[in-house]
Amino acid sequence: MESRKARFGMVKLKDCMPSKVLTSGASPEKSHATSEAAPPKVGFVSLGCPKNLVDSEVMMGLVSRAGAELTPRAEDADVIVVNTCSFIETAQQESVNTILEMAGHKNGGKARKLVVAGCLVERFRDQIRKDIPEVDAVVGTGELENILAATGLTPAAEHAARNSPFVVLPSRPEGAARAAQGRFSRDSWTGAIADLPNYLYDDATPRILATPRHMAYIKIAEGCDHPCTFCIIPQLRGQFRSRRFESVVAEAERLAQSGVREITLIGQDTTCYGEDFDLRHGLALLLEKLARIEDLRWIRFLYAYPNKITSRLLETISQNEKICSYMDVPLQHASASVLKRMKRGGGADVFLRSIGKMRRIVPDLTLRTSFIVGFPGETEKEFEELCDFVREAQFDWMGTFAYSDQEGAAAFALDKKLSPREIERRRKHLMSIQRQISKKKKKALVGREFDLLLEGESDESDLLLEGRTAMHAPEIDGKVFVNDFPQEMTPQPGQFYRCQITEAHDYDLVARILWRDFDSAI
Ligand code: SF4
Repeated sequence: MESRKARFGMVKLKDCMPSKVLTSGASPEKSHATSEAAPPKVGFVSLGCPKNLVDSEVMMGLVSRAGAELTPRAEDADVIVVNTCSFIETAQQESVNTILEMAGHKNGGKARKLVVAGCLVERFRDQIRKDIPEVDAVVGTGELENILAATGLTPAAEHAARNSPFVVLPSRPEGAARAAQGRFSRDSWTGAIADLPNYLYDDATPRILATPRHMAYIKIAEGCDHPCTFCIIPQLRGQFRSRRFESVVAEAERLAQSGVREITLIGQDTTCYGEDFDLRHGLALLLEKLARIEDLRWIRFLYAYPNKITSRLLETISQNEKICSYMDVPLQHASASVLKRMKRGGGADVFLRSIGKMRRIVPDLTLRTSFIVGFPGETEKEFEELCDFVREAQFDWMGTFAYSDQEGAAAFALDKKLSPREIERRRKHLMSIQRQISKKKKKALVGREFDLLLEGESDESDLLLEGRTAMHAPEIDGKVFVNDFPQEMTPQPGQFYRCQITEAHDYDLVARILWRDFDSAI
């Protein structure tokens, strides 16, 4: 973990005052408040990925139901919760910077309590408390309900007594086998507790959306059983476990009733969904069921594991209009020898065949992937294999990560580490290849018409609106700027419009709205 000298980052509290509390009743139950004093104001900072965001939304739901008021302003909060990320070194750095910045609100500000939650707690539990004395409580990824005790809404003893006993969920045979091989061991981490997270929210758990009203993530599974040697997520998040099918459907139905039109299914690996309760083709069946929810317009899933993409899943995508023809398949590398050292398997030839099949079955597929550059021992030749593969595969979207050492990951012990400078050189080179591919692909879209979900005013300029097509997943892909619409129209965020692409940049598009799609009105 970084020292206290880390520079403060400018982190704004995420707007956490959405209009709906997603409980089965209309208003939050207030029975957990422990005193008659004014309820505390609680502010959340959520860092990291959408999976972490859902955890923040669940904690926000829990504290709100217990009587707390949520505030999007750190200066107004009595209690500040920082939900951290610990995926790679830069994420850990950002988490520490944010904790220190929020600690400033205790030292001379209004805040009385500072709570740290999330993956950094699973990794550095004792160290956070020791090195940052302003931190009053920590909440791991498997202990979300402890946010009530941590924020002072429920006395710790009372909370422990009321909590149901620890439930051990079933696991996939792969998970049990990997556990026996020590995949989930935290022995090399001083200060982390031995118990692996096992928590998974369900449709009865209160949750407050921090996303715009028209879109929501649904976490359908948690944890991961894969052996990737660069990754500590299995130790941070525990064994793979799926939510019950009916629970996901019930949550999706309720979200749709509250105005959500786009749902993005997430999990460390969504393509394993249901395997832990012997459900074959679980993700395909779930998508088919969700596509029958009348008010939903777009459904997509992220983070597919390459060898889990079946014909059945692809056919499900191609046969259901509401399921976006969009796949995010993190391939991590394309050289067979690097992939072997990553313990992932596959290689350029296998992947190209698989991509060919995806595009055959889903002809209008938008394909996203991500790669790790500079894995220990990556030779110039192996890197060139990756570059050639990227040229040939022609991805629509691509992300790159610079390899960073993680204590507890098997790759930590590998030799032949590359210098950060060389890793960055290779990362930039790979992105320059993709930039040309993206530019060409975006140019080919000029003149074509698409459905557009309008997000609102653009961050880039007050004069522009921005939105997304089905080719754009929330928050990660490029943008569609809107600079023209019919004179009599007042475009509304959260509504669907028919648009025509008029300009293309390297990653972003410019469009004009043609007409509004009234069928999708919220
Ligand atoms: S599949 Fe993803 S989350 Fe799981 S171990 Fe591999 S990289 Fe980590």
